[in-house]
Amino acid sequence: MWCCLNPRAEVADELYRFLVDNSFRITKQGFFVALRNVVTLHGSNELVKFVSEVYTKIKAVWKKSPNQYHVILSPDGEYKFMHYTEMTEEYTEKCRTCDGTGDWWDDEFDQYVTCYDCAGEAEDSYSRKTYEGTDLGVLTDLYLDLPNRAENRFTDDWTKTFDIRIGQVVSMPMTQCNWSTQDCAAAGLHFTANEIHYVGCGDQSVLMLINPMKVVGIGTAKGRCYEYLPISTVSRDEATQILHDLDFSTIDLDEYYVESELDFLSERAQSTFAEEAKKYNFNLPAISSIEIGNIVNCLNKMKDELNGRVKEVV
Ligand SMILES: [Zn+2]
Repeated sequence: MWCCLNPRAEVADELYRFLVDNSFRITKQGFFVALRNVVTLHGSNELVKFVSEVYTKIKAVWKKSPNQYHVILSPDGEYKFMHYTEMTEEYTEKCRTCDGTGDWWDDEFDQYVTCYDCAGEAEDSYSRKTYEGTDLGVLTDLYLDLPNRAENRFTDDWTKTFDIRIGQVVSMPMTQCNWSTQDCAAAGLHFTANEIHYVGCGDQSVLMLINPMKVVGIGTAKGRCYEYLPISTVSRDEATQILHDLDFSTIDLDEYYVESELDFLSERAQSTFAEEAKKYNFNLPAISSIEIGNIVNCLNKMKDELNGRVKEVV
């Protein structure tokens, strides 16, 4: 459905085949996961890498909720993450009130009574933290806050002008994109699935989500879009492997992005179609406004479903 809403006829026509041929993976709501390289602007973005990579791994590999994990800064400067249930442990110790006797001297009645603290058990349970260092907070909160972090700054190698942050949408005006079908050196935001090893263009690889509606051109192995969401850093060595790893589930990687994409979808789909139809002499596929309306209705239903399962993270 997203493909059909792409205003470029040949992209709408070829994109699905291109995604299959190059083994791109998709999310539950039909966005696809791709790779690109970026240039690091600051040296010390370990926390950005740690948070985005662990967040993605917990969702995509472990299929668990990142809400249940905290990030800990250890005294040696390393980051680690812990399930909240493992951050404290219960232990029992001799009751401090009765000094382990189970009896307590009651001054008012001048006699021993059962200890009020341990109920006569003579020992009490306490809890203590199991880690050294500082609890930086819940993983999901840290992930959603990444765009605000000063060290989360990357740019593109070609123009060195884009403000690229993990967790923040990167876009350029659609009208400035080149629509050609060549693989390289054309205007637009580049992405690939399999070719990341062969692409220089930066010191850091990132996983990104792309709405098929926003792809402007596809080549053989690489494509260009006018908007994407970088969701995680990923090491160059693992990049391609991750996208092909069937244990890496991309299904749930879209939740926050897709909600914003579904807002105002109807107006946007109609207006870009009209604009593109005016601008070029292409034979747009015979898709009527009723059909567009139907697709938008389906997507709106998806949005309602999604809104029904959104939970505030406390
Ligand atoms: Zn006691």
